[in-house]
Amino acid sequence: MPYLLRRFALILLLPLALAACQSEPPATPAVPASDFSVTVGTDPHSFAEFEKVRIRHLSLDLDADMTARTLSGHVLLDLDRPVPGFQRLVLDTRDLDIREVHAIRPDGESLPVSWRLGSDHGHLGQPLIIVLPQGIEQVRIDYASRPEAFGLQWLDAAQTSSGQPFMFSQSQPHYARTWVPLQDTPAVRYTFDATVRGPRNLMVVMGADGNEFERNNSGEYRFHMPEAIPSYLMAIAIGDLEFVELGPRSGVYAEPQWIERAAAEFDVLEEMIDIGEDLYGPYRWGRYDLLVLPPSFPFGGMENPRLSYVTPTIIAGDGSLLALVAHELAHSWSGNLVTNAAWRDLWLNEGFTVYFEARIMEALYGREVRDQLAKLAWDGLLETLEQVDEADRQLVRDLSDRDPEQAFMRVPYDMGRFFLDWMEHRVGREAFDAFLRQYFDHFAFQSIATEDFRDYLQAELIAAHPDRLSLEEVDQWLFEPGLPEIAFEIEPQSDAFVQVDDWRRQWQGGEIELAELPVDDWSVHQWRHFLIGLEGALDAETMAEMDAQFALVEQQNYEILFLWLMRTIEAEYAPGIERLESFLLEVGRNKFTAPLYSALAASDWGHDWAIEVFERARPGYHPLTRQAAERALGLDQS
Ligand SMILES: [Zn+2]
Repeated sequence: MPYLLRRFALILLLPLALAACQSEPPATPAVPASDFSVTVGTDPHSFAEFEKVRIRHLSLDLDADMTARTLSGHVLLDLDRPVPGFQRLVLDTRDLDIREVHAIRPDGESLPVSWRLGSDHGHLGQPLIIVLPQGIEQVRIDYASRPEAFGLQWLDAAQTSSGQPFMFSQSQPHYARTWVPLQDTPAVRYTFDATVRGPRNLMVVMGADGNEFERNNSGEYRFHMPEAIPSYLMAIAIGDLEFVELGPRSGVYAEPQWIERAAAEFDVLEEMIDIGEDLYGPYRWGRYDLLVLPPSFPFGGMENPRLSYVTPTIIAGDGSLLALVAHELAHSWSGNLVTNAAWRDLWLNEGFTVYFEARIMEALYGREVRDQLAKLAWDGLLETLEQVDEADRQLVRDLSDRDPEQAFMRVPYDMGRFFLDWMEHRVGREAFDAFLRQYFDHFAFQSIATEDFRDYLQAELIAAHPDRLSLEEVDQWLFEPGLPEIAFEIEPQSDAFVQVDDWRRQWQGGEIELAELPVDDWSVHQWRHFLIGLEGALDAETMAEMDAQFALVEQQNYEILFLWLMRTIEAEYAPGIERLESFLLEVGRNKFTAPLYSALAASDWGHDWAIEVFERARPGYHPLTRQAAERALGLDQS
């Protein structure tokens, strides 16, 4: 750089250098000017430079303030430094108040170090750049989360069934950084400890070892996570929780109003774990418990290790929606054990899990139930593939410039699953199961890319079955948009659905009366197939007739109710609209709320009504649900 230019650059950088000293005067060199330029690292959704410095272990010490809606305290990071001369640590943060940063010397002495928050990158947040003196392998950061932390939902007493406040986290895909400063990328795995203090009348639980079975008197809870996990699996919840044991290593936590129904609904949990082990080897996480969250939980479930979170909307009273529990449990192998190193490869995590989920369901309920679920998924996938852009029609997707939230759509889940179905079909179940078991062992506790899987598949499965499977075919699945021709070798068929199609056709064709439909024998999945396949829009009169016959508007099964409410919108059917209103005020599960708001926005009567309902429901919604609803209603500013 020429001299004059260099001087100019120094003058420009001076205010930045001053701004860097937000802590006490540094006892170590200030952050060098050249180090201000931090860009995203190997993972396009994280600033972490984990090839140079990497978190090995993390210790949290936090106080939860349910009124102020904050977690505050400190985190202690134990670091590996594969490049010892590299003197900075970059962490991901979003909306965190960073108070102090200290380096801890090997002799235990703590010294303040120079640090700085980089510029704001929207959903990626701000990099926290810390000077890392030579020889330092431990850093302590004192901080607090903010009430608006995207990864935490705080509910006040009026918003829960227990009448007590509740808080829960949702860290996937990149929201752990809104409550802990860390390397927020699935490429980095670490073990952790935590001490959390909450109000004495509430219980603190985490996705870790150490969850208590009863509320203690001190309000302080200690946890330990001995298995290395990526940050998206960090999970905490605080509420008026009770516990019921379901098996020697399984149980369920819920608010008092849900606990009995939850325990009855999930009584097959221990059997599911046994099935998982029979299929793909030992369950490696100690206990497996479920936590039933308030209905505002934005997802069906979240596979937080040792303690999966589930929505109460799967508690149907008859175990008919347990595929979701099978799914979260399956993640204990596919995902939590072997996960994607970046969100581009989410299919490695979710596709394997949906396949595994189907195998558990088949072992529990038989081939027919498995086929019905597969057919629903196949039809849904075809519909999605028609609606989305070409770039989103493939398993491996470039998400570099996008919010990783957008990774979560049907394609990595269902197309990923059918890819595995297809491999099973080609080489036979025995050979494919042996391969999968070996794959989970080989990559256990690692984060990998599609290319790692592809190399391993070639060496271990294709090489053994060159006449059945080729790399060219595999690449069609992985890298080309849409379902390849060969996918139709495994198109799911369900005789039970064929019969439903037949009955529906006869009724809609006027050949039979509503009362003649043999619905008493129908499974929940047949009902779903029936409602999805109804030809054309129904009018309010037909809906009233159906309600008189089947009381659909009073459905306790949320999957059926949801489909009925979607029909309600197009028919402008008054009793349904009444139920829709109470539904939107109660439930925050995005799978239901986002399409309902979209359908309302697109209808000729519902747009303003939906905005009015949304404004009332909004305080009880999770930030993710809120964001999706605002997009659907055209209320978002961006
Ligand atoms: Zn999943």
